[in-house]
Amino acid sequence: MLEQAQRVLKDIFGYDSFRGRQGAIIERVASGGDALVLMPTGGGKSLCFQVPALLRPGLAVVVSPLIALMDDQVATLEELGVAAASLNSTLSAEQQRDLAGRLRRGEVKMLYLAPERLVQPRMLDFLRTLDIALFAIDEAHCVSQWGHDFRPEYLQLGQLAEQFPHVPRIALTATADKRTREEIVNRLHLQDAERFLSSFDRPNIFYRIVPKENPRKQLMTFLAERRGNAGIVYCLSRKKVDETAAFLCEQGFPALSYHAGLPSDVRAANQKRFLNEEGLIMVATIAFGMGIDKPNVRYVAHMDLPKSLEAYYQETGRGGRDGLPADAWMAYGLQDVLMLKQMLQSSEGDERHKRIEQHKLDAMLALCEETRCRRQALLAYFDEDLPNPCGHCDNCIDGVQTWDATEPARQALSAIFRTGQRYGVGHLVDVLLGKDTEKVRNFGHEKLSVFGVGKARTEHEWRSLFRQLVARGLADIDLEGYGGLRLSDTCRPLLRGEVTLELRLEPKPAKGSTPRSSSGSPASQLVRGEEREQWEALRTLRRKLAEEHSVPPYVIFPDSTLLEMLRSQPGSMAEMARVSGVGARKLERYGEAFLAVLNGGAEEAPRAVADVRHELISLARAGMTPLQIAGQLQCSEKNVYSMLAEAIGQQQLSLEQALDLPEELMGEVQDAFLDGEGELPPVSEVAGQFAGRVPEGVLYCVRAALQSEFEM
Ligand code: ADP
Ligand code: ZN
Repeated sequence: MLEQAQRVLKDIFGYDSFRGRQGAIIERVASGGDALVLMPTGGGKSLCFQVPALLRPGLAVVVSPLIALMDDQVATLEELGVAAASLNSTLSAEQQRDLAGRLRRGEVKMLYLAPERLVQPRMLDFLRTLDIALFAIDEAHCVSQWGHDFRPEYLQLGQLAEQFPHVPRIALTATADKRTREEIVNRLHLQDAERFLSSFDRPNIFYRIVPKENPRKQLMTFLAERRGNAGIVYCLSRKKVDETAAFLCEQGFPALSYHAGLPSDVRAANQKRFLNEEGLIMVATIAFGMGIDKPNVRYVAHMDLPKSLEAYYQETGRGGRDGLPADAWMAYGLQDVLMLKQMLQSSEGDERHKRIEQHKLDAMLALCEETRCRRQALLAYFDEDLPNPCGHCDNCIDGVQTWDATEPARQALSAIFRTGQRYGVGHLVDVLLGKDTEKVRNFGHEKLSVFGVGKARTEHEWRSLFRQLVARGLADIDLEGYGGLRLSDTCRPLLRGEVTLELRLEPKPAKGSTPRSSSGSPASQLVRGEEREQWEALRTLRRKLAEEHSVPPYVIFPDSTLLEMLRSQPGSMAEMARVSGVGARKLERYGEAFLAVLNGGAEEAPRAVADVRHELISLARAGMTPLQIAGQLQCSEKNVYSMLAEAIGQQQLSLEQALDLPEELMGEVQDAFLDGEGELPPVSEVAGQFAGRVPEGVLYCVRAALQSEFEM
């Protein structure tokens, strides 16, 4: 059995060996047993049911909660030459009939469908007339009523056990906790399933958490080191998403936005672009998440604190699904804590629920202030023991210095107490530093014993100290007031001198315009120096093929496969076949083309131009001005205009996307071209009347737009 499975793995999927427990899982299911599979995101769950599906006779039925997920997998399978289909609400009645016919004739190997579809009596009746190889229940945690992805229809999937007693079932999830696991077993009637629990560690993700100072600048530094790579930037509110995306575009970063407040067609379009194009930044609320199977998300940045470690781990887990290096980066400050606590207070729900949420937030804060290995702390929270520090997080790499903060902490707490437990950090720091402000004078705080006792430290140090006091629960935020600080019960032993306090020593904030590198060398820069050119050539070819086949680029080949081509430099088809991810079908379809690129194919020059054009179009669509695009592509503005005009002429770009001209002026330019009879006049004829008002390039763009309209 395992041998056959190996052959399928190599011939169809192009991979040499199973990862982790894949082999054992596949053996179990292929031989007719049930399985419960817990594997982190990117662990390779799909193969666990796809390989047995190919080994067993009959149709494999895959339950998946989202159409986007299904489409992605179906496209991937089709590229591999496997007959797969999805049955969903987007199909017309005729398409559904057609699919039913193919199913009856045994022409489909894997059928993806939503749970509500599957459990319809008619559907079940229909399936009973077919030969079923297995049932796979993906995202099985959707049965959990406590989880955030609860889908009531999943509850009905339990009946498969009784209705198809001889068909093996495999349930898969990336959700770690025990309670969810037990719920899956009970509700899906998987008592006899063998359990396969993998480590939840994501060794390819580099974790870094930095104190928030100038968050936008910090973000830009982080992004600048990762140009050309795709990533997600999470923000807490819709407003902040919009503002951040607009800001990034202004600064020359190709950013899109995504949140529940956007019209659904805009959301769908942005999501699609993120999946299909490369190097885009998605600025989003957590509404953007499940169903994002893009394997080459190279970083996930958090501009705000998530409300639990579960959320943090899930969100950062969207990076690096392909197993290549990815960065998880977060900027965090006291303001975040205030905001989350406020949300918690005002949320619905009973006291018990709030207590649990509070506890989760505390665990999140503890990770931020962690002085040991972040990965060890994270995994420990999920009941997993990582024996040694990971060597792949900020704390491991930079080392964390701690200092004895007992005395200053007592001074800070005393400042809170003496000022009446109602002021925010700003004022408290002023008091400690002995600043002569209006507020200090108004309240007579210059007379307090704590006034000016903290002059030996900087404002930055005091702010960091207050933040850590709140994070550790030694001080509370007064939410009814204006976010003033109060003492909490737990600070008594410290005030009485019974315990000492060790805190993180933070590096000094960056000065002026040269912020420190956000992370040293980014984990996510996959290729360097001389490899770059060939890497880009490979990516360009992949993009071209993806467009021809209307699939996302990673469906042609994942980055990991391109990277292996680059590093191993296959010189023949036989060598190409050895590259991981190159199966028989893909070898036949694409092998030659990629070999040609690697061997310095003749097409290189025109391809490079196509590459620039492509990037130009996506930058323009992202809202960048021609000048900004010129900066980004490092070419002249004139050149940018002429490429824009060409793209407009070929209707790859609308005039509005390319230019940002006041409407009135735009009208005037158009009129100038349309004045005469018949043919459009050349640009040189109208240029005179706009000299000094409109760049000549604009005229070329407008003319191209009019021309293409006439041709239609
Ligand atoms: P999950 O569903 O667990 O998040 P996927 O099934 O999408 O993960 O797999 C993640 C990536 O790893 C995919 O690109 C997949 O092709 C690749 N992969 C899975 N198993 C293997 C393997 N045995 N060898 C090489 N690559 C693999
Ligand atoms: Zn570590």
